[in-house]
Amino acid sequence: MKISNFLMGEWREGSGPGIALVDPVTGEEVARASSDGIDLEAALDYARRQGGPALRALSYKERGALLAKAVEVLTANREKYADIALRNSGNTKVDATIDIDGGIGTLNFYARLAGKLGDAKYLKDPGFERMAKDEAFQGMHIWVPLAGAAIHINAFNFPSWGLWEKAAVAILSGVPVVAKPATSTALLSYAMVRDVIEADVFPKGALNLIVGSARDLMDATNGTDAVAFTGSAETAIKLRANGATLARGTRFNTEADSLNMSLLGPDVTTASPEFDLFIKEVTREMTVKAGQKCTAIRRALVPAKLANEVTAALEARLSKIATGNPRNEVVRMGPLVNRAQQAAAQDGIRTLAKEAKIVTGGAGGFSPVDADPKFSAFVAPTLLYCADPKAGKAVHEVEVFGPVCTLMPYNGLAEAYALAARGGGSLVASIFTADDAIAAEATLALAPYHGRVLLIDEKVGASQTGHGIVMPMMTHGGPGRAGGGEELGGVRGLRFYHQRTAVQGRLDRLQGLGIGAAEVIL
Ligand code: NAP
Repeated sequence: MKISNFLMGEWREGSGPGIALVDPVTGEEVARASSDGIDLEAALDYARRQGGPALRALSYKERGALLAKAVEVLTANREKYADIALRNSGNTKVDATIDIDGGIGTLNFYARLAGKLGDAKYLKDPGFERMAKDEAFQGMHIWVPLAGAAIHINAFNFPSWGLWEKAAVAILSGVPVVAKPATSTALLSYAMVRDVIEADVFPKGALNLIVGSARDLMDATNGTDAVAFTGSAETAIKLRANGATLARGTRFNTEADSLNMSLLGPDVTTASPEFDLFIKEVTREMTVKAGQKCTAIRRALVPAKLANEVTAALEARLSKIATGNPRNEVVRMGPLVNRAQQAAAQDGIRTLAKEAKIVTGGAGGFSPVDADPKFSAFVAPTLLYCADPKAGKAVHEVEVFGPVCTLMPYNGLAEAYALAARGGGSLVASIFTADDAIAAEATLALAPYHGRVLLIDEKVGASQTGHGIVMPMMTHGGPGRAGGGEELGGVRGLRFYHQRTAVQGRLDRLQGLGIGAAEVIL
């Protein structure tokens, strides 16, 4: 089966054989995708001309109602999507839930948030600014939807969540979406978009889909568009540097890879509840989605005096994770998404192993449950121990996109903070401590290098949402190497898809304009 693109108001099949999408457990082909032969510049222009005005004619509340309709359609087809996530991504039930329900939940969150923005069609900062002696002359800032399109280029690990977390915010903002999921797992994105299109949820041109290569799409962007990219730092650099994007000043948001860390506080002992919570969280982050989460814990910093105990506890817990074909009920961790990713992860493990000792797992010699290693893409859960992280380089710089984490001992919090900063900017840091003063100090020390800080102690141990889980009400993104971007964060997410314009004039005129706006702080 060759999956189609939805562009210029219709389903269009790309020419040529296309690129094969495979089942990472069996190696069998599940579909093909191609965008070849399609005029992507014309497709982008169609989205701008048809989808944009149609969405902008609606209020935030009305656009929110469209998102709610999409939620209904997607929820009704959930089981079908879980099956696709198994066949094309090797997802366990838990993995599929995170991706599929995460996407639907984010759409739902923005559908509800729309209610707060009401009948307005544009936004406004609170208050007015006086600039002259004459009080009649004042200024204010309004936010209007961009006139172009939102181009969403996504990574392979979240074909549902990645698509909908971006689309929800753009569509609510009044900006049409051209979604370009990663080719290797595009079958799920395709199936979901197909259902929403067949149900006639959005106006024509508001939701568009490219399957297969993005080809020359970036060359067709202009200064009215906004590109939101999620993927590797390497691709981000290439796309950011695109001549057309640079010359026309196209907005560009990057969510790239990162060396997220978790800190076990110096106050913790093996008897503390925080010790068990830490072991549980590191294991979960290593094994959920086979570690293919941009937010997964890659570096676990532990007090040197507890290093042996943490190593033993993690090793014991990881040994209980059955890895293999998710169709087998005993299996808790599935494969990587394809053999190219498997090879890249194995290479990465070999690189880390030059600076760190492999405690469990490793780059080869592994027999998955119910799967043939000759065709499948499994990597064993791999824990490494870097005895001298101050001297290490790769352990702070190489993101192995798989079930891989490096333990690092630290002596004193100042050393831990310095090690954390060596990641060069990451999406998330978590801190496990029962001591409020340590929690406060560590938060402020780690915040400049992380987009999110998660504080865990016994009291929130059961209710916390997880180191790697992105919640729509909180911002997602990280400084430096993580791309310097920002997504979601409730109403703040709308900022990327709006133009802030300073309006100066007679106060009563500004007040008149302000009446039509929803007042927010973006
Ligand atoms: P990737 O190879 O960089 O690809 C990302 C996307 O870029 C894919 O859709 C890819 O399309 C597309 N692409 C590649 N070249 C392009 C070009 N010249 N023009 C337009 N689009 C182009 O990344 P990946 O391997 O899919 O994802 C894994 C990486 O993503 C990891 O490093 C991970 O940390 C990061 N990630 C970050 C986040 C976050 O939120 N920060 C979330 C998830 C993943 P094709 O598939 O067709 O090549």
